[in-house]
Amino acid sequence: MSMNFKELADKYGTPLYVYDFNHLSDRYNSLKKAFEGQKSIISYAVKSNSNLSVINHLASLGAGADCVSIGEVRRALKSGVDKYKIIFSGVGKRDDEIREALELGILFINLESEAEMKRVELIAMELDIMARISVRVNPNIDAKTHPYISTGLHESKFGVEIDMAKRMYIYAKNSKNLNPIGIHFHIGSQLTKLEPIREACDIVASLVKSLSAIKIDIKFFDIGGGIGVRYDDEITITPQEYADTIIESTKKLDVTLMCEPGRFITANSGYFVTKVLYEKQNPTTRFVIVDGAMNDLIRPSLYSAYHKIEAYDKEGETSKANIVGPVCESGDFFGKAVELPKLDHNDLLIIHSTGAYGFTMASNYNTRNRSAEVAIIDGKDRLIRERESFETQIALEEKYLI
Ligand SMILES: *Cc1c(COP(=O)(O)O)cnc(C)c1O
Repeated sequence: MSMNFKELADKYGTPLYVYDFNHLSDRYNSLKKAFEGQKSIISYAVKSNSNLSVINHLASLGAGADCVSIGEVRRALKSGVDKYKIIFSGVGKRDDEIREALELGILFINLESEAEMKRVELIAMELDIMARISVRVNPNIDAKTHPYISTGLHESKFGVEIDMAKRMYIYAKNSKNLNPIGIHFHIGSQLTKLEPIREACDIVASLVKSLSAIKIDIKFFDIGGGIGVRYDDEITITPQEYADTIIESTKKLDVTLMCEPGRFITANSGYFVTKVLYEKQNPTTRFVIVDGAMNDLIRPSLYSAYHKIEAYDKEGETSKANIVGPVCESGDFFGKAVELPKLDHNDLLIIHSTGAYGFTMASNYNTRNRSAEVAIIDGKDRLIRERESFETQIALEEKYLI
């Protein structure tokens, strides 16, 4: 760690999210380069880290945006993402979200059910436009990842099965208000093996071929997100292996390749900095109590996710400790049996790989202010979101006080 977390903690307070923007560039560029010589769009999955400055930074490198609410679409546009690189996915889009996305003229809306297709058609008819769409296909592939982030099996709520997708494309082709230009799938997150990706690509590529035989020409082949990252010592997929697998699978098709990486770009860029409040020794367990909590970073409680935790600038003999926050839940922990030296009040702990699904999943549970976010660009720090205050938290209630 080359960053001076002590200086950052003094300047901005804790708990604090710090993102290395040079890392964001490296990750985006490595993936873009892996697709060199192909028509490709890297649409950043905004949900992994939706700070405007993060999106803006990636947009300046040429990234598109994969959005799952109209709020995310607005963030992407506000951050300078080209509207023809924005797509809108999600199993439950509201009418007003569909209407706005159509009026904004983004690249396409990704349909996740037949009922949704009919809604989009109706709204496009009212607006008297052609809605560009894709269908999210569920290739029934076991992504072999955590069940909460596995999305490619029939029992999952996402997408539609192949036969239904085909029926939807035929319907769309014959509709005056639907223009089927894309195909989409996303089998899960934190994928560390190529095989499920290859299988899913092959299945969807053969669907594209059979659609082309009936004059439905798919122009965008979107393989979703999910490239795994290293949180601990996982061996994961390299951008080049990933791209090669997709290119191989689609080589007979004339399509623009799209992918929607979230975590791959943002996870390892982020550090969550939290201050030690107390140490506490129970008969069986050593606890380190810190000022950050599950409301700031919920992945350990929600998915039993592992994050590397280190004491900053502190040496000494180590012993196992559970790192816990002040929130009134036993699930409020960041790590268990972590080897740490003896810690004092105000020492810092650095929780690694927290740039994805960290701040974006934060809440105000226990009336805690969401943390500030800081960018490090070429060694310089910049505040990109200020810490919430009690006043901002209660503003929407206070004026209605009974
Ligand atoms: C969550 C999600 C992504 C991003 O997943 P990562 O694991 O962060 O890469 C991409 N596409 C869709 C449709 C998603 O739901």
